[in-house]
Amino acid sequence: MRLHFLGAARTVTGSQYLLETDRARVVIDCGMFQGSPHDVLRNRVPFAYDPKTIDALLLTHAHLDHCGLIPHVSALGFSGPIYATRGTVELTRLVLLDSAKLQEEFAAKHQRFAKKYPDRALVEDRSAAAELAAATDEDAEVATREAAPEALTYLREPLYTTPDATAALDRFTGIEYGTEHQIAPGVTATYLDAGHILGSAIIRVRARDNSGDRTIVFSGDIGRPNTPIIRDPTPVRDGDYLLVESTYGGRTHEPEEQAIRLLGEAVTATNGTSGVLLMPSFAIGRTQEIVYELDRLLAAGTMPHVPLYLDSPMAGSATDIYRRYPEYFDDDAKALLAKTEAPLDYPGAVMVKDANASAALDTDGARPYMVVASNGMITGGRIVQHVKSLIGDAAMTLLFVGYQGEGTLGAQLQQGAKQVRIDGQDLPVACQVRSIDGFSAHADEPELLAWLRNFSVAPKLTFIVHGDPAAQAAFEPKVKALGFATKVPEWRETVELT
Ligand SMILES: [Zn+2]
Repeated sequence: MRLHFLGAARTVTGSQYLLETDRARVVIDCGMFQGSPHDVLRNRVPFAYDPKTIDALLLTHAHLDHCGLIPHVSALGFSGPIYATRGTVELTRLVLLDSAKLQEEFAAKHQRFAKKYPDRALVEDRSAAAELAAATDEDAEVATREAAPEALTYLREPLYTTPDATAALDRFTGIEYGTEHQIAPGVTATYLDAGHILGSAIIRVRARDNSGDRTIVFSGDIGRPNTPIIRDPTPVRDGDYLLVESTYGGRTHEPEEQAIRLLGEAVTATNGTSGVLLMPSFAIGRTQEIVYELDRLLAAGTMPHVPLYLDSPMAGSATDIYRRYPEYFDDDAKALLAKTEAPLDYPGAVMVKDANASAALDTDGARPYMVVASNGMITGGRIVQHVKSLIGDAAMTLLFVGYQGEGTLGAQLQQGAKQVRIDGQDLPVACQVRSIDGFSAHADEPELLAWLRNFSVAPKLTFIVHGDPAAQAAFEPKVKALGFATKVPEWRETVELT
């Protein structure tokens, strides 16, 4: 029995593991690599296995870095069932259809560029092909020399299309938390709430073959205890092997109460002026949490009522899905529902319908007002237009409520950039820029260690995955100090489960 580490090994994206027994082959997560162009290119490295030979796929949650390659693996011949909680199935539909659309748009843009500037496109394609060959372990130079120009056009193709995504979505089976399901010959899976986003799961896999029985626990992404709306991560007490995420290894988040207080203060400061409060936020998870906290702050009388515009079609759809799963809510959110309060509604909140209405808001909107718009790192989506319109306005506060990836416009602004470039235009920064870091969807290091302490006996071996090298280096000694044997697997490493 063996485990192949095919993604989120020394990176935070591209989650993918293959469990192989002498009877079955099961893939756990099939996520997209995101981030630098080098990381993204890994999405085009051929799968480490023949997709036709896979019996089943298990998905921990709906984030793109966990589900984003599912249409790709399905288009290449995977024809088995895909298991996820019912909430995850619905959210994944949003995420994969959106991803397919973006790929199609990006590919069309690239084709237009190649038509206009064939020489430049060829140079770009060649260097991308060389990088891809290097990542695929071929001789990069030979590969570049041998590659005929027409052979490179696949780099301009979308990784998958909308029909591919639709076909893959038909393979999904929604299951309940806490029930053991037979998913492949000799393999069962139990989904436990991971408290990360709606429907997220820790997956406990029991596998049996001629070499015996093993229990392998895949942590998925572990949420913060006390995240609004959803439940806390489920304690797990045993397992022969464990894969634990390490996104925030070596780091401690600010306490949640402080984050909520800062949010209330930012809204209060916006009121009574000609102010605008602009909050970039990811559509799934963070937007619902922010709306929940704003509603709570208002109900508690700690902040004034400032009109709220929700400007993300995807966030609106995700909120509808959240509303359909009250059985996944934590006790606080359930108690609000019992009092017939809607925990995901802010009084008078306006859903911004289309891009025209979104643009009109910045010119004609009655102030003060606040906007929550996607995406969270200002790398795309309607937030970009708002930032472009309002960045030179000293009465605007740009409030970051989530993680800003290295090199993103969000990170540049957070680090105090005095001027930014948007759509080829240099814009001076006159607005206020503030950040709250306590709204993470991931447990920080003390919270991860607390979750690990639930094990009554340490697993035989704990794999530290889903983290950048520095975070993993900080985290590993602390896991060892709990008496756990640890390993930080490399990308494409295979480990025998004895
Ligand atoms: Zn996630």
